Amino acid sequence: MENTDPGYHQFLEGWSQIMIIASIISVAVALVVLIIHFIKLSAIKSYKGKYDYLKLNRIKAYQLFYFSLAVAIFFYGNTIGDATVGKSMVFIFVRLFISMCVGTLIGYIIYLVLKFYYPTSLERKLTTLRYTPRLSKAGNEMKLLSEEEEDVHLDEGMQAEENVFSVDYDVWVDEETGEVQIEKYLGYLEALECGSCGFRTLKLEKEEVLKAATEETEGKLLKNYKCTYCQSVRTTQHTIAKILKSENDYKLPTDYVLKGQRKVKSIMVEIISTKGDKKEFFFQSTKQASDFLENFDFDETDSTELKF
Ligand SMILES: [Zn+2]
Repeated sequence: MENTDPGYHQFLEGWSQIMIIASIISVAVALVVLIIHFIKLSAIKSYKGKYDYLKLNRIKAYQLFYFSLAVAIFFYGNTIGDATVGKSMVFIFVRLFISMCVGTLIGYIIYLVLKFYYPTSLERKLTTLRYTPRLSKAGNEMKLLSEEEEDVHLDEGMQAEENVFSVDYDVWVDEETGEVQIEKYLGYLEALECGSCGFRTLKLEKEEVLKAATEETEGKLLKNYKCTYCQSVRTTQHTIAKILKSENDYKLPTDYVLKGQRKVKSIMVEIISTKGDKKEFFFQSTKQASDFLENFDFDETDSTELKF
C-alpha cells in the first residue's frame, strides 16, 4: 500500500530537514560543553584548583557531552530510511520508537560507564594532581609533610577536623624560605575501592562519634561506607586522639607566611578572659604577634592597648 499523497511526502521532507538541524544543534551543544570544560580547566593555574574543578565537574561535563550526542543520534535516526517511511505513515512512528530506544540505550550505557568505570581513571588523575610537588613563590620545589610533621603547621581546629571528620590537610613547605601552603581535601567526596565488587564506588555515608575524646582518654569514631554499585556496606572504627592540653591556648606558627604579607599593615590580637575582660594588642608582623603570645600572661598585662 503505497502512500502517494504529495502532502505527506512534502511533510516528510520538512520533517527530515528539522531532524537534521536538531541533530547538528545537539552535536554543537555537545562540543561546546566539552570545549568550555577544557578551557576552564586550562585557565586554572594551581594543581589544587585543577583538582577541585575536575572533582566537581569532570563527570558532569562528560555526562552532558555524551547525553547531547545520544540526543543527536535520536534526531539523526529519524531521517534514516525515507524510502520505507514514504510508503506508509505508520513507519514514521516505528522509526521514532526505534530511534528513541537506540538513543536511550546509548545514553544508559554511557551513564553506567561514567558512574562505575570512569571514576577509577579520574581518581588516578586526581591523585597525580594532588601529589605533584608545588612550587613556592621563590620557585623552589616544595616538600609535602607527613601526617606527623604537618601537625606543627595545623592549628587545633584543623587537627580536630582531621581527626574526626573526613578532612585531609596537605601541608607543603619550602625548606629554603619557610613558605607554607596548606590545602584542604574533603575525604567524603573521595570514593574508595569496594572490597566486594572492586569498583571505586565505596562512599562514606555517615560518621558517628561513639565516644568523644577527652584530655585523659581517646575517643572512638565509626565510619559507615556504602557501595553505590553493589550496595554492600562497610564499617570501620577509628581512634580519636586525646585532646592535647597545651600551655599556650593559641599560637601563631612562627614561619607562617600570610598571603600578600607585604600588604599587611597591622595585626590585632583580641584576648578575652573567662570573666569577660577584653584586651587588644596591635602588631606589625605575625612574628611579633607570635613572640608576644608565647610570653603572654593575662594578669601581668596592665595596659589594655599595647603598641609595638
Ligand atoms: Zn561494591
